[in-house]
Amino acid sequence: MSNGQQPTAPTPGTWAEPRKILVILAHPDDPEFFCGATLARWARAGHHIEYCLMTCGDKGYNDTTTPQHVSTAELCGRRHEEQRAAASVIGARAVHFLDRPDGYLVADLELRRDIVRTIRRLRPDIVVTCDPQTLFAAYGINHPDHRAAGQAVLDAVFPAAGNASYFPELIAEGFAPHMPSEIWCALTNQPSVILDVTDTWPMKLEALLKHSSQIGDIEKFKARMLTRRVEGSSEENPRFEEKFRVVKYG
Ligand SMILES: [Zn+2]
Repeated sequence: MSNGQQPTAPTPGTWAEPRKILVILAHPDDPEFFCGATLARWARAGHHIEYCLMTCGDKGYNDTTTPQHVSTAELCGRRHEEQRAAASVIGARAVHFLDRPDGYLVADLELRRDIVRTIRRLRPDIVVTCDPQTLFAAYGINHPDHRAAGQAVLDAVFPAAGNASYFPELIAEGFAPHMPSEIWCALTNQPSVILDVTDTWPMKLEALLKHSSQIGDIEKFKARMLTRRVEGSSEENPRFEEKFRVVKYG
């Protein structure tokens, strides 16, 4: 530029035009736990958000809230309902379930094909998933379903979703190749984008409370979530961040 200034790069996660954002993760409650405040901000900004969850979380059992006699089928149904209510708080427009068995997710070709089909059918600009390299999280060992989900989504995005040579049977089903332009991986230990999400943190909390089969004591849960504030910010005036590893195409 003539005045010697560099043009300002656009802030990550702010798009001038409405974007279609597809969140693909393993379990009900993952979207809210991993990145709910960011999703709420994007919905508030007018972007179109949908979720695709690979399992219905039928082993996601909390001894203090879920009676022992609840069957996996009942819990699956309950978690669908909880997830739809939470998505509605966030401002997501639809929730799709692949309903694979909870806890046994494997990033195999069948799962990859199902995700490629979903991407080609819904044609998102942005895909949100989680970082498959996260073996250890702040709370201990990262759930194997989270790792498998992240791996399957990344493998589906590249090189398969946008390339007609992969899964040609999906073309026969009517789903043309489609390549998203950005992939946002939450739950990462290698963030490239850190967003201050203090303003929409209350929406994340409200959405999480819809997952009542998972939450247990509400006050203890709220206290635990308050400990996730940015180091150095106070309990009275907390600041919150969500972190992502972002890959861009095109
Ligand atoms: Zn999970």
